Amino acid sequence: MKSKLEQIRKDAIKAFEQATDPKTIEKLEKQFLGRKAELARIAKDIKKIAKDKRPEIGKLINEVKRDIASAVNKQRATSSAGASQTSSKFDYTLPGIAPATGHLHPITQFLEKIEDIFIKMGYEVVEGPELEDQKYNFDLLNVPEDHPSRDIQDTFYVSREDKKGRPYVLRTHTSPVQIRALESRKPPVRLLVPGRVFRNERTDAGHETTFYQCEALVIDKNIRVTDLIGTLELFIKRLYGDDVKIRVRPHFYPFTEPSLDVDMSCLLCGGKGCSFCKQSGWIETLGAGMVHPNVLKNMKVDPKEYSGFAFGLGIDRLMMLYYGVDDIRLSYSGDLRFIEQF
Ligand SMILES: [Zn+2]
Repeated sequence: MKSKLEQIRKDAIKAFEQATDPKTIEKLEKQFLGRKAELARIAKDIKKIAKDKRPEIGKLINEVKRDIASAVNKQRATSSAGASQTSSKFDYTLPGIAPATGHLHPITQFLEKIEDIFIKMGYEVVEGPELEDQKYNFDLLNVPEDHPSRDIQDTFYVSREDKKGRPYVLRTHTSPVQIRALESRKPPVRLLVPGRVFRNERTDAGHETTFYQCEALVIDKNIRVTDLIGTLELFIKRLYGDDVKIRVRPHFYPFTEPSLDVDMSCLLCGGKGCSFCKQSGWIETLGAGMVHPNVLKNMKVDPKEYSGFAFGLGIDRLMMLYYGVDDIRLSYSGDLRFIEQF
């Protein structure tokens, strides 16, 4: 019995040493350690052996089993290492896979272009809160209590209340930042205020409830409407190129007097008229005006000594024109197919 077990151990180890592929190893494992293997049969028949010899034989069976198992493991490890080396098709000369890196959103990229232009003209970029007190969003900007822009129809109010018990508002424009900025500054000032604003709009290709504005405020002595128009013309040309023309039309805004709407010549047809500009050759670009004397007083600035201009740009629309995007909703969709194009 003893010599038989020794023989099994010798045969098994020899067989495993010669086995190289995983299939053979698996077959041999079954042959030597499986339920129908000779070793298993001997273990089963141990009862037939004389009682005093059983412990010795039992111990030997376990030793043989352990040795065969370690031969299996050893051979399996060398065969898999060999397989991965010989079957590898890795080409070390191929260029690597660049890790995916993020980038700024097209609106942020475009805003930075605008900020660059104004910073070069000596403007300071300032920001303010998106949740506003009605005092800053309306009162101090010369927007009376009964003005339609305060209507629940186009304004988002929240449950938090101000000192007068009026609800706070998601700012409808970036103008409140002008008032806040003048609380800690004295004229002359040149400010650029970019930021997100909110209106209760019905969304479509040209309207969103959340969008970006960029506003500018200049207050100094002897600021005239021609300074405003000159600044706007320079800005539009630096952004879209020297061929672009601008025109101004009278308009009404409560916080400026006189107020202007500014158009620029259509980028697509060059002013000849096309479906984008509704055959007019012009595209509405921004609102502007000379700061209303009441607003100057609210900023603690003497309108007899100082004057100023302000204008506001809809960043989304200008960005769409710049890159040729036809739906404002794409900007906020989070769709990578859109974002990755910039
Ligand atoms: Zn056109």
